[in-house]
Amino acid sequence: MENDLIFKLNGPRKKLKNLLSEYNIPERLLLNILSELNIDPSKFSSEVNKKERKSIIRNLIELSFKIDQLGSYKTAMVTKGGVALMKVNPKTMESRMLPSLYFLGEVLDIDGDTGGFNIQFAFSSAASAIDAINLKKI
Ligand SMILES: Cc1cc2nc3c(=O)[nH]c(=O)nc-3n(C[C@H](O)[C@H](O)[C@H](O)COP(=O)(O)OP(=O)(O)OC[C@H]3O[C@@H](n4cnc5c(N)ncnc54)[C@H](O)[C@@H]3O)c2cc1C
Repeated sequence: MENDLIFKLNGPRKKLKNLLSEYNIPERLLLNILSELNIDPSKFSSEVNKKERKSIIRNLIELSFKIDQLGSYKTAMVTKGGVALMKVNPKTMESRMLPSLYFLGEVLDIDGDTGGFNIQFAFSSAASAIDAINLKKI
């Protein structure tokens, strides 16, 4: 991204905001960064000087945030804890303690970042259990 961005900032006669939007950066974040840097988003990329170019790139690449606090239980998207994974056969999701008892999804002690991992695990663990149950019936 860095080299591409340097090239583009040096190059075309495009408004800075429009040019940076090509990198799928949310507009509010982009405008905030430029405002923090005192750079006018409506100026043309060819008018951005070397110092400004460097600070834009540094801010986009090294942007870090301090987390003030976590959200409450009301806004939580996944629970931690649950049935210990070692007590379950990961191929069939069947309990190692009580045969024919299956554990799936969030009831297990497994959690991932938001972005589809948890729901995917719920579906995948269910599919594994269904396959195992169907095989048992044969
Ligand atoms: C607001 C929110 C946003 C989320 N966003 C994402 C996301 O973007 N990506 C992602 O991967 N995950 C997301 N998740 C997490 C994801 O939805 C869960 O991990 C997933 O749905 C877990 O599936 P599950 O079948 O294990 O449990 P659940 O989907 O919770 O299903 C359990 C079901 O059991 C029922 N039930 C409970 N008790 C009983 C009972 N005694 N008798 C009969 N039925 C009962 C419940 O009503 C429920 O329908 C989100 C969760 C929330 C709350």
